[in-house]
Amino acid sequence: PSIQTASFGPSVWLEFSPLSIKYKSINLGQGFPNFEPPEFVKKAMIETIEKGGFNQYTRSPGHLRLVNALSKVYSPYFNREINPLTEIMTSVGASEALFATIMSVVNPGDEVILIEPFFDIYMGAIAMAGGIPKYVSLKEKERDNNSSATRSSKDWVINTDELENAFSDKTKLLILNNPHNPVGKVYSKQELQEIANVVKKHPNCTVISDEVYEWMIFDDNEHFRFATLPDMFERTVTIGSAGKTFSITGWKVGWCIGPDNIIKAIANTHQYIPFSVPTPTQEAVAIAFEDKNIKDYFKELSQMYQAKRDLLVNSLRDAGLDPVVPEGTYFIMGDTSSINLQGSQGKDTSITGMGLNLRDWNVSRWLTTEIGVTTIPPSAFYSDENAKLAENFVRFTFCKDDDSLKKAGEQLLNIK
Ligand code: PMP
Ligand code: GLN
Repeated sequence: PSIQTASFGPSVWLEFSPLSIKYKSINLGQGFPNFEPPEFVKKAMIETIEKGGFNQYTRSPGHLRLVNALSKVYSPYFNREINPLTEIMTSVGASEALFATIMSVVNPGDEVILIEPFFDIYMGAIAMAGGIPKYVSLKEKERDNNSSATRSSKDWVINTDELENAFSDKTKLLILNNPHNPVGKVYSKQELQEIANVVKKHPNCTVISDEVYEWMIFDDNEHFRFATLPDMFERTVTIGSAGKTFSITGWKVGWCIGPDNIIKAIANTHQYIPFSVPTPTQEAVAIAFEDKNIKDYFKELSQMYQAKRDLLVNSLRDAGLDPVVPEGTYFIMGDTSSINLQGSQGKDTSITGMGLNLRDWNVSRWLTTEIGVTTIPPSAFYSDENAKLAENFVRFTFCKDDDSLKKAGEQLLNIK
């Protein structure tokens, strides 16, 4: 067999958390909670360790108790009975579900449609599979400069003609991320139906619907699942993450749900990546999902994050960083047009030396070194051709305790 090799440089994540540590800034960059997970989740892990018996490999495609719990939780949301043994696979975080799915579906030379901005991890897997990315951008609708209307992630849309044109007879995969990192967009049912209408014309195209932020939905928005559209379950792999759902990103438990033929292929690939997912974390996540108040917990998670969103939105407005108010996720895009960078001021480029000519990278560095608040440059989520679309934005996360968010808000006032 031929051997694919890929040589990668460092990613955006290797720059901004280390930079934040170096300058002791408030880290609103990488999305991981800086608060403890809920008590019932911690208890589930303590119970698992204390009762013993969960210290060896478990079933490769997924620990039985967890796939059963996932089937119970998700079946009503998918309007069908999901078979825990054939239609679910657990993974080492959503990250490995993405990797195993892409490696299973994409052969060298196949084309993959990515919607920019896109979570950067997709690119790595596509490169390792030998796939060829094709880009379609979410674009913010033209705004009337005098309008006082709230800037919203709703106004970031894809053009269906552009999407249609990105397809060819080589298209094998389309990756959707809903709710969307970094824009915070929650796709409407109608938007998803329009995407499905295009997908339907290409029988060889599989869809990944990365829904790791499914329980962080604000205001009167509703999370609609692509796989529940007519004829879409058969070709869609929906991906979730315990890291996001229970504020335990370090436990690295994720899963994918889809039709048995595709899940079988992914599970066959997964045997050759981690073989199985750590047993104690899967047992504990299963116990957490079995909690009798789980549906209330999902609602509370959205409420908690909505309050944090409002806090950060207000701070960004006060600092002149006109935020794109997100409908979901725990990210906000802030508009940095008002920042006037002077020469090389504050630009410590010593960690990765990446993005030297990209404004958003230099603004993110300056915010860390001069203002004490770390952000992520969203051009890391674009192809080189379209990186310019991100130049006036930085991404903030609000999955942090209120004290950190308030303090960040005070420090951001020093921009003015
Ligand atoms: N997809 C998206 C859109 C994400 O933001 C993340 C966060 N890292 C992941 C997948 C990966 O999730 P996990 O931490 O469970 O691997
Ligand atoms: N998904 C998180 C983010 O976008 C973390 C990414 C990562 O650690 N690779 O910030």
